[in-house]
Amino acid sequence: MFQDLHEISDGKIYTENDMVRVASRDCEGCHACCVGMGNSIVLDPLDVWRLCTVTGKTFEELLQREIELHAVDGLILPNLAMTGEDERCAFLNEAGRCEIHASRPGLCRTFPLGRIYEEDTIRYFLQTGACKKSDRTKIKVSRWLDVPEPKKNRQFLLEWHSLRRRLEEALAAEESEETKKAVNMYLLRLFFVTPYQAQGDFYEEFGQRMAQAKKLVQGR
Ligand code: SF4
Ligand code: SF4
Repeated sequence: MFQDLHEISDGKIYTENDMVRVASRDCEGCHACCVGMGNSIVLDPLDVWRLCTVTGKTFEELLQREIELHAVDGLILPNLAMTGEDERCAFLNEAGRCEIHASRPGLCRTFPLGRIYEEDTIRYFLQTGACKKSDRTKIKVSRWLDVPEPKKNRQFLLEWHSLRRRLEEALAAEESEETKKAVNMYLLRLFFVTPYQAQGDFYEEFGQRMAQAKKLVQGR
């Protein structure tokens, strides 16, 4: 893994307290990472909650334009849709700016950093050549991520990542297409389709849903 990491990064591993050269002067004049990203901007439940809250749309309504579903290792998850001739994100406005900047998904906040999930923390690597600006300056990783309630957010990301891994393994071992479909439908409904309370504590509600999902994983 670390050999691969060296090929695509500057070879350093960063914590949230480290300085990293990613600050891009507010991305002035550039929106290169908001177009042509295929299905790579995968969304987690927090991202979808933020998108539903900021747009006032339900998950199903977002599926009509802004997001789509695709299978990642047998697990069906939502991602930002890239549409039109220039394959642009639906939240990119005519001026080339993100219309939902404060509510943008986690992967948009992280780019051009990549996450490394460890047992009880997340560290980061810098993807070489991913950001199109060459005159970037240094900024503290936590400031770049710009995530409210960072401790709760980190715990949420670790739990979601762990569940994803376990489900991917379980689905890979499952032979029945019908069962795979039923598991995916259950998870989509549990974590994405069923609305979260717009003004509620997302992390608390996610914890309750996670407890239900763990029963599913343990039962397999
Ligand atoms: S949500 Fe915003 S930052 Fe993310 S790809 Fe779309 S326009 Fe870009
Ligand atoms: S490629 Fe770099 S400068 Fe351009 S929008 Fe993305 S993060 Fe900002």
